[in-house]
Order: sequence, then structure tokens, then C-alpha cells
Amino acid sequence: MASKLPRVGTTIFTRMSALAADTGAINLSQGYPDFDPPQALLDALARAVREGHNQYAPMTGLPALREQLAAQLQHHRGVRVEPDAEITVVPGATEGIFCAVMACVRPGDEVIVLDPCYDSYEPAIELAGGRAVHVPLTLPDFRVDWQRVEDAITPRTRMLMINSPHNPTGSALYREDLEQLATLAERHDLLVCSDEVYEHLVYDAREHHSVLQWPALRERAFAHFSFGKTFSVTGWKTGYCVAPPALTAELRKVHQFVAFVAVTPVQQAIAEFLAAEPDYPATLAAFYQRKRDLFNDALAASRFTLVPSAGTYFQLLDYGAIDQRPDSELCERWTREHGVASIPVSVFYQQAPELRLLRFCFAKSDATLLRAAELLCKI
Ligand code: PMP
Ligand code: GLN
Repeated sequence: MASKLPRVGTTIFTRMSALAADTGAINLSQGYPDFDPPQALLDALARAVREGHNQYAPMTGLPALREQLAAQLQHHRGVRVEPDAEITVVPGATEGIFCAVMACVRPGDEVIVLDPCYDSYEPAIELAGGRAVHVPLTLPDFRVDWQRVEDAITPRTRMLMINSPHNPTGSALYREDLEQLATLAERHDLLVCSDEVYEHLVYDAREHHSVLQWPALRERAFAHFSFGKTFSVTGWKTGYCVAPPALTAELRKVHQFVAFVAVTPVQQAIAEFLAAEPDYPATLAAFYQRKRDLFNDALAASRFTLVPSAGTYFQLLDYGAIDQRPDSELCERWTREHGVASIPVSVFYQQAPELRLLRFCFAKSDATLLRAAELLCKI
């Protein structure tokens, strides 16, 4: 049978984590914390299971959780969101993004993505029958060239995907970016799919700007969030999508037949945790900034050049002063020979420019980060 996704193989995250496991390397490749969430959240999950929250939740998500999420959005972003009509709890942002694309992209439609681009977007667009149009972020600091974005818009352009804070580069959009995006989206009547899963992981007093904060975007955007990042539980695979009622209705038509619902006890646990500790997400920036700085300080003696990371839990290291070989080759070689696994950046491009960049996840214990840095200093 001819593949519907002929250019897709096993993801780089799966491959690099497997290589790290096979070789015993420190795994700074796939993005996930190596520590547990707050004890109160673990307790809430155990309690939820014990107390019988074990059957299907409502398709849209537990009302108590959606209420908490609306309160969070009001608190952190100053936006009013209607929990019943505008919030859908999903089994991970990946599913939410997939459903948004499936719901809106028709055969022949074009969707603009910004390279380097998270790996799940293009397959979703292709499965919907659409075509991803790739616009590269500008080097060296991975900003959006909005003129280039506008030049890529055609009468077939249906949607624009953005991701801030940005995986894999760690860059983050500025207020002016959102203003430009709003102008463009309105002028060309585009939908916006905004991946904000790292919303709370922004550093150095930078602020996260959500599409939900711009009225012109609010009415045409899907905003995707992930509890995996916010509560250090990537394996719980739960998140939520916010969109205006008409778009939410379309998303739910797809969601109810892709997954139908997200896992019930996880929803119950997060609802309880947020009710008890509404300020917890605000603690993440300082927590991760310290980890980033610890890792980076320990790399000061290395031959790598640090690319400033404004957000996410990823740090890019430029190895141009050490070696000129392609990142995919070196990434594998250094995992085997130096015992630290990372992710090559070029795989997130349709057409990669000359880059010598590897991505390292710093959501790890201090001891692991220091040990990894020590090994990297020997390269
Ligand atoms: N978008 C980006 C940019 C990500 O890094 C991730 C991380 N895994 C996701 C979406 C998916 O999140 P989830 O695990 O909630 O599906
Ligand atoms: N988002 C994670 C990363 O960037 C990976 C998630 C996955 O393996 N699909 O590393």
C-alpha cells in the first residue's frame, strides 16, 4: 500500500531516546523532566483513582477542571474565556493540534509553518489534504520575518501555525510579533493555530504573549496548552485547547472521534491541584531559569557557543568551533562517544540552512546537568 505519509519515519525524539538507552548516555534529547511533579499532585491522582474517577469524563473535559483553567487564563493572561463553549480538555496538545488542523484544513489548503518547526504539524496538515508552506525564522536569533510570512500567503492559505516559546530554538515572540500576526491574520482572513505549551517557561523577565490577548487573534485562533510541561507530567498526556465557540465546536467534532475524551483521573487531579495551588505555574520560570543557568555556567569552559534561550526547557549549543560535520551525524556520534544525547536542529527544517546546532533539554536534576556539562566540556 502506498503510504499516506511517505516522508515520515519514526520521530527523532523516539530515536534519540532509544539510542541514549542503548548506549547508557545521559538523555538530554527528548524533552521531559527527570523529576516528579509536586507531591500534592501525585496524591491528588492517587485519590482520584481511589475515589472512583475512573470512567469517561464529559467529551469536553471535566467541568471543574475547565473552571480552573478559565480562572488561570484570567489570572495569568487577563483574558475571559467561557469554560463550556471555549475550552476543550484533550489527551495532549499533539491531539489538540491534530484536531484543529483536521477540523479546518481542506484538501488543497495551504498552512504556513515557521521553520524550524515542531515535528507533529506537517503530518497533520498532510493527512488533512493540505500543504505546509515553510517560512524560515531569521538567523541568528530565530525571529519571524513577517514580510516573508506575508509574501508566502496565497488565496489558498487557510492557517498559520505559530509556536512560542519555541521548540527547538528556545526563542519567544515579542509583543510586536503578535501585533504583526494580528494584522496579517485579519488582513488575509487566516486562522491561527498557536502552540503555547511552554507558556510558563519564559526567562530573564520576558513575558509570554498569548494569541488570546489580542482581540483580532482571539476570534480566529486555537491556543494549545499542555499539562505535561506545566506540571512536569509529560506521560500523563493531557492538555487543553482554547478557541472561540464556533471553532471549538468544529474542533470537538473531530476530537470526539479521534480520542473522544482525555483521561478522567488526571483531569480530576489537576482540577484539585489548581484549586489548592493556583499560583504553582508562576513558580516554573524561576525554577527552570536556575536550571538553564546552572547548565550554561557549567559549559563556560566548553568549546560550544551558547545560543540564548528565552523560553522552553531547551538550550541550543553551537558546535561550529569544534566540528563542521552535519548535526545529525555528530548528534549520534557524540551520544555514543561522549555519553550525552541531544537533538539535531536541522531535522526540523524543510530546507536547513548552514547550522551547527544541537538541542539539549535542561529539565533534569542538577546532578545530571552538571555531569552532562562535564562530559560536553571534554568534546
Ligand atoms: N508542541 C510542542 C512545541 C512540544 O514541544 C510538545 C511536546 N511534547 C507538544 C506540542 C506536545 O505536547 P503533548 O505532550 O501535550 O501532546
Ligand atoms: N516535545 C518533546 C520534545 O521536543 C518530545 C515529545 C515527543 O517525543 N513526541 O522533545
